[in-house]
Amino acid sequence: MALFAVIGLGSFGATVATQLISLNHEVIGIDLNKKYVENISDQLTHAVIADATDEHVLDELNVQRCDAVVVAIGEDIEASILCVLHLKNMGVKKIWVKAKSKSHHMILTHLNVEKIIHPEEDMGVRVAQSLSYPMVSRYMALEDDHYIVKIEIHADHHATPLNQLMKHAPEITTLLHKRGSVVQYQVASDLILQEGDILVVEGLLEPLRHLARYFKAL
Ligand code: ATP
Repeated sequence: MALFAVIGLGSFGATVATQLISLNHEVIGIDLNKKYVENISDQLTHAVIADATDEHVLDELNVQRCDAVVVAIGEDIEASILCVLHLKNMGVKKIWVKAKSKSHHMILTHLNVEKIIHPEEDMGVRVAQSLSYPMVSRYMALEDDHYIVKIEIHADHHATPLNQLMKHAPEITTLLHKRGSVVQYQVASDLILQEGDILVVEGLLEPLRHLARYFKAL
């Protein structure tokens, strides 16, 4: 179990905070807005109405003992930066910050925060990817253009042999196949797919794009 602080309890910050709680961590939530704090106070370990640009407030809350601090102040870039500066001065090592604009991102880069988050952009990319590749239900970017992709088999591909799908992208590795609750890690190439099956594959972006086109063309 770890201890986190989430500063700014708008929709993004509140979601991060409650998710961390559901993952069995302790969370201190801080927001200027009384209503936001009251809405969430019974779900968090500790919720405080406070101005996070005031270093004394952060000090009193003992934020430096947190394993990580998420700064989720959006619109008020000045407040976000000031808060990050105080956290840095207090010696907080793991600071993740939500950035609202390019200039905000640039300043945060110079402040050397561990992670800069762009939730709206990230979600926009994911929505566009899902619309473009409906069979891809999840993906994870690895380094060097490699991806792990979860594919759901739809009715169009029911009864298609796996090797018929994969023959146009032999560079792609099938990591696992799941049907109902049964997971297989050694996937037979002549497996006949069924609607609802899950495949998890790994490969470079270009062959994956190629495979996606083949999925659509079937
Ligand atoms: P979201 O999209 O997550 O709802 P947003 O990106 O529009 O939020 P804001 O609403 O500007 O961002 O800020 C998020 C929260 O941060 C708000 O609830 C706001 O009250 C809080 N906040 C802003 N300034 C401070 C501050 N100085 N100290 C603490 N909380 C602050």
